[in-house]
Amino acid sequence: MAEYQTSNVDFIIVGQGLAGSLLGWRLLQQGRSVLIVDPCLEQTASRTAAGLINPITGKRLVKTQHIEEYLPAATKLYGELSVFFSDQFWNDMEQVRLFQSKAECEQWQKRQADPDYKPYLADQFSANSKAYLSNKSSGGFEQKQCGYLDTVLLLDTLREYFQDNGCFIKQHLNIDELTMLESSVQWKNYDAKKVIFCDGFNLQNNHWFSWLPLQPAQGEIFTLQTKKLLPKEIVQFGKWLLPLKNGQFRLGSTWQWDLLDEQPTEKSSLELMQSLKQQFPQLSDARLIEKKVGVRPGTRDKMPFLGSHPYCPNVSVFNGFGSKGALMIPWYSDRFCQYLINLQVLPDFADIKRYTNDCPTR
Ligand SMILES: Cc1cc2nc3c(=O)[nH]c(=O)nc-3n(C[C@H](O)[C@H](O)[C@H](O)COP(=O)(O)OP(=O)(O)OC[C@H]3O[C@@H](n4cnc5c(N)ncnc54)[C@H](O)[C@@H]3O)c2cc1C
Repeated sequence: MAEYQTSNVDFIIVGQGLAGSLLGWRLLQQGRSVLIVDPCLEQTASRTAAGLINPITGKRLVKTQHIEEYLPAATKLYGELSVFFSDQFWNDMEQVRLFQSKAECEQWQKRQADPDYKPYLADQFSANSKAYLSNKSSGGFEQKQCGYLDTVLLLDTLREYFQDNGCFIKQHLNIDELTMLESSVQWKNYDAKKVIFCDGFNLQNNHWFSWLPLQPAQGEIFTLQTKKLLPKEIVQFGKWLLPLKNGQFRLGSTWQWDLLDEQPTEKSSLELMQSLKQQFPQLSDARLIEKKVGVRPGTRDKMPFLGSHPYCPNVSVFNGFGSKGALMIPWYSDRFCQYLINLQVLPDFADIKRYTNDCPTR
C-alpha cells in the first residue's frame, strides 16, 4: 500500500473566484502557505462579471459606503499585480450615465451640489455632444474614478501562479471529507490550521454557514460585435454598455432572484436586446458572440460575510461580495489577512458575529 504522507499548510481555501484568489495572493505575500481548491468551472460569478467599478450607483445615485477605503485599496492591489505579472488587469475608463427620467436629473443636481460627491461626479452633457446619442436623448452626466477589471485574465494569471507554486488543486471539495481536530482541519492528506470558504453562492448549501442570510442574484451578460461606431466610454442607461477592442462590446446585466441556475434564459435575452435597441438603435443588428451567466453572492444587509464559525474557529468564511467584488475584495482581503495572521479585529459591519444568534448550536 502506498505511503500516505501528510502535508501541512496554514490555510485551505475553498474556491478560486476573486475572493479566494485575492485572499490567497495576500496570504502568500505574507509568507503563509495555502492550498486552493477549485473545480475550474467555465461559468462562475467572477468569470462572468464585467468587473466594473462604479462609485455612484442606483436610481438615487448613492455613493457606495466606504468607497474612500475600497477604491484606493483596489487601485493599489491591481497596480501591484500588474507590476508583478507584467500584465494589465485594471482599465481606467471614463463612464457616463444617461438620464432615464426627470427625477433622475433632479437627483443629479442635488448630488452635484454635495461636496462629498465631488470626487466622483463631473459635467453634465446634452444629447448633441455625443455622436452615438439620438436627439431624443435627455443627455446625462460624466462619472469619475470608473473603469473595469479584466476578471478572467486576472483569475487565469493567478491560477497559473498558484499551480506553479504547488498550491492549487483542481477539484470540487466535498465538505463531508473535512475532519475537524482540536486545532486543525484535515482534508485528504492535508493538515491545515484553518479552512476558509470562498465558495460564492454555494455558501447556501454549505452546512457550516448556510445560516448566514445570503441573497444570491443570478445575472446575464452578453458580448456582441459591431462595425458601427461605439462609445469610447462605459455608458450606464439602466443597463450598461462596455466598449472593448475590435468592435466588441459587453452588454449587461440582468437580475433574477428566483432562478439560480447558470443557464441563459429567453427572458434575459429579450430584456438585454430590447434595452440596447431602445437606447442604441444603430447597434441592434450587432452580432451576439457570447452569453455568460453567473450568480452574485449578495447578502441581506449588502455587507460581506467575514469571520470564523462561532463554535468551530478552524472554519472561516470570506464571502458575500454581491455585485461589487472587484471594488470590495481588495480592501476586505487585506483586513481578513490581518485577522487571520495577526488576530486583528474585523470591522463590525462585515464580521459574521452580527448573525451569531442565527447560528444553530449543533
Ligand atoms: C452577471 C454578473 C455581473 C457582475 N458584474 C460585476 C461588476 O461589473 N463589477 C463587480 O465588481 N462585480 C460584478 N459581479 C459580482 C462579482 O462577480 C462578485 O462579487 C465576485 O465575483 C464574487 O467572487 P467570489 O469569489 O466570492 O465568488 P465566485 O466567483 O462565485 O467564486 C466562487 C468559487 O468557488 C468555487 N467553489 C464553490 N464551491 C466549491 C467547493 N465545494 N469546492 C471547490 N470550489 C468551490 C466555485 O467553482 C467558484 O470558482 C457580477 C456578477 C454577475 C453574476
